[in-house]
Amino acid sequence: MNNSKPLACLSIDLDNQWSYMKTHGDAGWEGFPSYFESLIPRVLERLDSFNLKITFFIVGQDAALEKNRNALAMITRNGHDVGNHSFLHEPWLPFSPAEKIRREILAAEKAIFNATGQRPAGYRGPGFSWSAETMNILAEMGYLYDASTFPACLGPAGRLYYFSKSHLSAEATRQRRNLFGNFRDGQRPVRPYLWLLPSKKRLLEIPVTTMPGFKLPFHQSYLVYLSLYSPPLMARYLDLAVSLCRRFRTGLSFLLHPLDFLGGDEVPELAFFPGMKAGKDDKLRLFDKVIEKISGSFQIVDMKTYAKASLNHDRRLSLHTAYPKPLAAEFERGRT
Ligand SMILES: [Zn+2]
Repeated sequence: MNNSKPLACLSIDLDNQWSYMKTHGDAGWEGFPSYFESLIPRVLERLDSFNLKITFFIVGQDAALEKNRNALAMITRNGHDVGNHSFLHEPWLPFSPAEKIRREILAAEKAIFNATGQRPAGYRGPGFSWSAETMNILAEMGYLYDASTFPACLGPAGRLYYFSKSHLSAEATRQRRNLFGNFRDGQRPVRPYLWLLPSKKRLLEIPVTTMPGFKLPFHQSYLVYLSLYSPPLMARYLDLAVSLCRRFRTGLSFLLHPLDFLGGDEVPELAFFPGMKAGKDDKLRLFDKVIEKISGSFQIVDMKTYAKASLNHDRRLSLHTAYPKPLAAEFERGRT
C-alpha cells in the first residue's frame, strides 16, 4: 500500500433486478426477482483479487427478504462497508413529506443492520435524487455523509435515452422526471464539500466524481458503454479523467453497478439497459483494467474511511447552502 497516494473511494449501488424493472415500468418486479446469489460472490471475489474493501449501498427491501440474506451477509463477513440506498428505491422519495422520508431511511437502516450486522454510515438516494429535507434528516439521524449527488452534464441526456426505451405511463414518467439529476446538478462541485442545512446542521457530501472541468461521467457503467464503441477511446477517456482528478486534487469517488458484472445473456429481462450487449467476461476484464488504472494514482478505500479522512484532514471542504424551496418547486414544475 502506497500511503503517498491520495485516497479514492469505491462503491457499488446494489440495485437489484426488480428495481431496474420497476423503474423501467416492466411487469414482474412485484415478486422482487434477485440476482444477488450469483452477483455478490462474483463481485466479492473480484474485489478480493485486488485486496480492496469498498462500500455496498443496499436497498432496504432487498435486505428485508429472507432469500437475499445469505448473499448480503457475505458482504460484511468479507470486511466490506455498507451504505443505505433507501427502502423502496424510488427516485421521487426526496420530494415526499419529511415524515415519509425519515420512515423510509430508518426502515432501510434497520433491515440492512439485520441482514449484515452493520449500521450504514452513509446514504445514497436512488437515481441520484436528493433534497435539502433529506439531508436535514440524515444529519439528524447521525449519518456521516450523503453520496447522492452526481454533478454531470449528461444526466438529462441519460434520462431521455432511458425514457425512449421504457414502457411508462404519463404519471410514472412524471414521477421519474428528476432521474439521473437535473441540469442544475451539473453545476455542483465534484470534490467533497459540506452542506449547510436549513436546520443549521452540516453534512458531508461526497459526490459521484465526474471529470473535473468537463463534468462528464466516468462511472463504470459509462465506461462499459464507451468500450462497446471503442476500447481504445474508453482507455484514453478514463486516463484523462483519472489524471484530471489527480491534478486538480478533487479526490475520486468511483461508482459501480451490478450490471457492470453481469452479461446480457445472464439477465435477459434487462437487455434494454445500455451496456448489456457486452458479455460477462469482457465486463470483468474491463473492471480489472479500470481498477489497475485508478490504483496507479490513488489508494482505494471504502466510503466510510474516505468520509472520515475528508472530515479530518481536508481543509479544502467548502460550505454549500442547501436551499429547500426552489428545488421542490422546480421538481413540481418539471423543469430540468
Ligand atoms: Zn440505485
